Amino acid sequence: MEVNDNQINTIVDRVVGQLTGANVIEEQKIPQQKINTSHDTPKNSTIIQNRGCFHSIEEAIEAAERAFIEYKSTSIAQRKKIISAIREICLDHIKELSRMGLEETGLGRYEDKLKKNELAILKTPGIEDLEPKAFSGDDGLTIDERAPFGVIGSITPTTNPSETIICNGIGIIAGGNSVVFNPHPSAKKTSVYTIDLLNRAVLSEGGPPNLFTTLANPTIQSAQIMMKHPKVNLLVVTGGPAVVNVAMQSGKRVIAAGPGNPPVVVDETADLDKAGKDIVTSAGTDNNIICVLEKEIIVTEKAADGLKKALIKYGAIEIGQYQARRLEKLIIEDGHPNKKWVGKDIQIILKEIGIDVPADKRIAIIETGPDHPFARIELLMPVLPFIRVKDIDEAIDLAYELENGCFHTAVIHSKNIENMHKMAVKINTSIFVKNGMALAGLGIGGEGAASFTIASPTGEGITTARHFTRTRRCTLSGFLNIV
Ligand code: NAD
Repeated sequence: MEVNDNQINTIVDRVVGQLTGANVIEEQKIPQQKINTSHDTPKNSTIIQNRGCFHSIEEAIEAAERAFIEYKSTSIAQRKKIISAIREICLDHIKELSRMGLEETGLGRYEDKLKKNELAILKTPGIEDLEPKAFSGDDGLTIDERAPFGVIGSITPTTNPSETIICNGIGIIAGGNSVVFNPHPSAKKTSVYTIDLLNRAVLSEGGPPNLFTTLANPTIQSAQIMMKHPKVNLLVVTGGPAVVNVAMQSGKRVIAAGPGNPPVVVDETADLDKAGKDIVTSAGTDNNIICVLEKEIIVTEKAADGLKKALIKYGAIEIGQYQARRLEKLIIEDGHPNKKWVGKDIQIILKEIGIDVPADKRIAIIETGPDHPFARIELLMPVLPFIRVKDIDEAIDLAYELENGCFHTAVIHSKNIENMHKMAVKINTSIFVKNGMALAGLGIGGEGAASFTIASPTGEGITTARHFTRTRRCTLSGFLNIV
C-alpha cells in the first residue's frame, strides 16, 4: 500500500495526540495545522490537533504535571537541545506568528511583530542563565544550584501574545519546569498556535509531551482557577493592574509584571537629533503597545524647539489644541483608553477626527500640560504628550510623578552625567535607559537579555530562567576543598 507524506503526518499527529491526551478542536481555524483526515472523518470536516491544548484548565494542569515528572529525568544537555529546537521552529514560523498576532488582536504592526518575535526567540536566555555557584574553603565545599518549582502557571497579555509565551516558555523549561498558560482570550488562537510549535520542538528532541499546556477557551475565570490550583507552584503574571492585584492575593508565590507609563526626559545637553529619532522609532514600534515604550515626552525649555523639529523630521506629526480636544474625546472613555483605538496605526486614529496622515508617520505629539490625560493614562497608542518644563529638576520630578509608582521603565537623553545620575536615582524603575530607545532596555539596540515579562511589583525586573527556579544548597562539611 502506498502512503503519502500527508497521510504519514496525519498518522504521526494522531498517535502523538492519543499518547499525549492533547485536545482535538473541531473547526478552529488555525493556519498550518489543518490535518487532512479524509480516511477517518466525515466529508468536509477538518480536525486540528494542537499539542498541549486541553478543554479545561484542570486537564491542562494535570497534563503539565505529568510532563514535569517525566522532564525531571531529562539531562541538561537535552534541555539545551530542546531550547535550540524551539528557537529554530519559532524562527521558521515567525511570519505566521506575527501575522496571526496582528490579525487576531488587531493591535500593532506586522513588521514590528517580526522584530518582537525575533527578539524573544533569539535573546531570551536558556540554560546559560542558571549557573551554579560553588564555595570552597577550610570548612569544605558548598554548591548552590537552580532547581525547578514544578508546574508554573503563566498568564499572558494580548499585547505580546506569542512573544510572552516564547519568552516565558524558554525560561521556564530551561529551569526544568513545565508550564500551563492561560492566555488573554483575545489572543487565544495565536497562543494555542505558539504552544503547539513549542511542544513540537520538545517532541522532536525526545522530550515529554505537554511540557507546555493551555486550554482552548481561556477566560478570566480559568485564570483564577489556575491561581488557586494546588498543583501550580508559581505564578507568572503579565498584564494590567487588575490581574496583578488578583494574583498577589492568590496566596501563591507570584512573579508579577504590571503596567507602566514610561516618561522620556530630554535636556538641552542631549543630541536632539538622535533623541528625536530614538523616540519616534521606539514609541512608534507596534503602535506603542509594549509596556516599556516611551509614553510621554518631558523636555526642558531650552531643548523643546530643537527636539520637536527632530521628532517631526523622523516621523512624528504634531496635533494642534483644537484637534487635541477632539482626539481626547475619541480615545479616552471614562478615564480609560478606548479599546477601539488601542494599538492602531496613527493614520487610522487621526482619520477619525478628519486628519489625513502620510503613511510614513509613526506617532502624534501634542503640547500639553502635566495634568493632561494623555500624560497620566497608559494609552498604549502612538499618541504622546509633549510637555515643556523649566529645567532638568522640574523634568525629573514630573517624570517621577507621571511614572505613577509603577517603577517600570524610564528614559533620559542628556550628556550631563549629573542629570543622568540624578534621574537614575530618583526614578527607581526596573529599566532605566540613557541616550537610547526604551527598546534598548529590552535588548534592541542595548546589551543584555530580552524578556517580555518585566516584573516591577515583585522585583525580578527583566524576568529570565533563573527567576523560575529555586536555589538549593548542598554542603559537604570538611571535605572536597582542594587548597
Ligand atoms: P490585561 O490585564 O487585560 O490582561 C492580561 C492577562 O490577565 C490576560 O490573560 C487576561 O485574561 C488576564 N486577566 C485580566 N484581568 C484578570 C482578572 N481579574 N483575573 C484573572 N485574570 C485576569 O492586559 P492586556 O491588555 O492583555 O495587556 C496590556 C497591559 O499589560 C498593559 O497595562 C501593559 O503595560 C501590561 N503589560 C505589562 C508587561 C510587563 O512586562 N510589565 C508586559 C506586557 C503587558
